Amino acid sequence: MMKSHAFENKEIAVFGLGKSGFATALRLQEGQARVFVWDDNEGRRSAAQEMGLSVQNFGGTETSSVDALVLSPGVPLTHPEPHPVVKKAQKNHIPIVGDVEIFMQEKEAGRVVGITGTNGKSTTTALINHILAVNNCETAMGGNIGTPVMDLPQLGQDGVYVLELSSYQLDLTPSWQADIAVILNVTPDHLDRHGDIQHYASVKQRIFQKQTSEGVAVINSDDPFCQLMAEDILKNGAQRVLPISTKRPLQTGIYVLNGILTDKTERGMGWSIDISNVDSLRGVHNWQNAAAAVSVVRSLGLDNEQIEKGLRSFGGLVHRMEQIDKKGKIRFVNDSKATNAEAAEKALSSFENIFWICGGRAKSGGIESLSPYFSRIQKAYLIGECADQFETTLAGHVKLEKCKELKAAFQSALSDAKAFDEECVILLSPATASFDQFPSFEARGDAFRTLVEGERS
Ligand code: ADP
Repeated sequence: MMKSHAFENKEIAVFGLGKSGFATALRLQEGQARVFVWDDNEGRRSAAQEMGLSVQNFGGTETSSVDALVLSPGVPLTHPEPHPVVKKAQKNHIPIVGDVEIFMQEKEAGRVVGITGTNGKSTTTALINHILAVNNCETAMGGNIGTPVMDLPQLGQDGVYVLELSSYQLDLTPSWQADIAVILNVTPDHLDRHGDIQHYASVKQRIFQKQTSEGVAVINSDDPFCQLMAEDILKNGAQRVLPISTKRPLQTGIYVLNGILTDKTERGMGWSIDISNVDSLRGVHNWQNAAAAVSVVRSLGLDNEQIEKGLRSFGGLVHRMEQIDKKGKIRFVNDSKATNAEAAEKALSSFENIFWICGGRAKSGGIESLSPYFSRIQKAYLIGECADQFETTLAGHVKLEKCKELKAAFQSALSDAKAFDEECVILLSPATASFDQFPSFEARGDAFRTLVEGERS
């Protein structure tokens, strides 16, 4: 664990007690910082008290002695407007940071790989970590995925931290500096929290900040916003740019066309591998993730054999186009992580004859962009808050049924799929947030899994 020392005898307010807030507060306290914590949720405050943390509301406290405010990434920093605690800290000139900032100051050794983007972060992060781990490299994965950074171990000189970073976390990490930084894509999502897309893109670009001439910037050259970042780095940055593409061959870089990944980097020397038959990397979006992951591990020095071993043994992530079962001609696919239209598009483009369960809390932009895939949909089953809005988009193009809840949607989809006589898929790929009916996308996916498993028994 990352026992904190840089903040010994400092007074630190931790605001927001999710997993990462708790980890940060506890590690800071172990490192002799004077910590006080707050969360608007009473249950979390009592849990904190039970763990021996001092509970005190930063919002209602005299702040002159506070050295830093550690903010949970869930608390608005800028948009739609700064949270009152943010305003208070700013007014009193108290630095506002996140757990990754503390991590950067505490980390003793090892290299840092950072991954950001609107979609594909977790898959890419997990794939990089997997390729390193199966080849016995010392590695630790965390950040926005899985383990909070402050719960990661101190690694040795050759160790690699593989960190997934959301834009919120980047916004709260002034000392961020990666040995290898990856950006996958920038599409409108979370604009409620970032104002406009330019601001969102500029926050994402911080993944490359402070990189030295030893550093590597892995950039998806198919994405217009990312391409602008590459041009900016080539003009103003010190680091090396390593482009990836799933659309065209590159003179230098890594690209995947028709499932063939080709590595035209200095170390890769034109090596190629067919990944079209790797189940966990199905779809062009996953080829992009694979190209990014190979760029990273190649830059870290892995050879062809090690990379192949890692790619072929990757198991994929739950809730991302996860095939839970196949019964006769019906596949059951849980893509609950598709919380926006761009993500759902990936699943819709990867299957035919789709009985599609979608809906929840709508994101800006709705699902108009999915119209090229409507012909693949046998029927849509609408759940959650946005059913009327989705109905408006789909009506006249796709057969649909408003089901309100997941269970009813599943039962209808199942009986329709059973009556259908070709290979087909019952796909939960909501294209929305889950929060109107579920605490998280994981809970939504797990509920779907339970329904599928109920069917199995
Ligand atoms: P993130 O961590 O950025 O949310 P995930 O790896 O968890 O991304 O994938 C979430 C969803 O996004 C997947 O279910 C898939 O539909 C879609 N997705 C995955 N990779 C990409 C990509 N490279 N580009 C666009 N969409 C992707």
